[in-house]
Amino acid sequence: MIIAIDGYSSCGKSTLAKQLARELNYRYVDTGAMYRSVTLYLQRNQIDIHHPDQVERALSDISIRFDIASDGQQITLLNSENVENEIRVNPRVAGSVSDVAAIPAVRRFLVKQQQEMGKDGMIIMDGRDIGTVVFPHAELKLFVTASPEVRAQRRLDELVEKGQHTTFEEVLANLSKRDHIDTTRADSPLMKAEDAIELDNSNLTRQEQLEFVMKLVRERASGKA
Ligand code: C5P
Repeated sequence: MIIAIDGYSSCGKSTLAKQLARELNYRYVDTGAMYRSVTLYLQRNQIDIHHPDQVERALSDISIRFDIASDGQQITLLNSENVENEIRVNPRVAGSVSDVAAIPAVRRFLVKQQQEMGKDGMIIMDGRDIGTVVFPHAELKLFVTASPEVRAQRRLDELVEKGQHTTFEEVLANLSKRDHIDTTRADSPLMKAEDAIELDNSNLTRQEQLEFVMKLVRERASGKA
């Protein structure tokens, strides 16, 4: 089975995806980490994202892989370097990742790799276009939502835990900006696939959310829904 999870920024997609991957013994692919890694590479190499030919050339020098660290956590490798922490906490990455993700050549480059990763199934992938573009035939599609304030608070807690100093207002502004770019871009904008199940988790605990989705997984697996 392929499980596609899409939704707005910081709505808990990756928490849910990781829980499901553990329960089902599936692979988890965090496609946001791939867009963040490309952004970091372009910034480090001073590639002007307004010059598509420069961006396209740079893509051929980028390799992104996932691995499991000694503590059991999944990490993202950019050209073999562990960039897991940097892509999450670097405000410059968060500030321009949605602009980078709107570049068609970047999307083509990453979508192809994502489709390759999922070709054998038993995978959970989260992002913005998984149920609509990457795996339009996924057996289960979820569209996760939560109120902007709940999302901003969750993201702030995460950043503070990682030692970052920022404010609720700054985090909320970044989420709103990314949501706007992600939903209005011309190439594969964030939207709910017609056959996706909407899950508003503003008032759900992680456990309640997991139980809700596991019930859907069991129904799909037994062909009931
Ligand atoms: O999921 P995360 O917040 O890490 O994603 C970072 C950014 O990457 C999103 O705001 C979006 O612009 C982009 N993205 C995307 N398509 C995906 C996953 C992420 O455009 N499938």
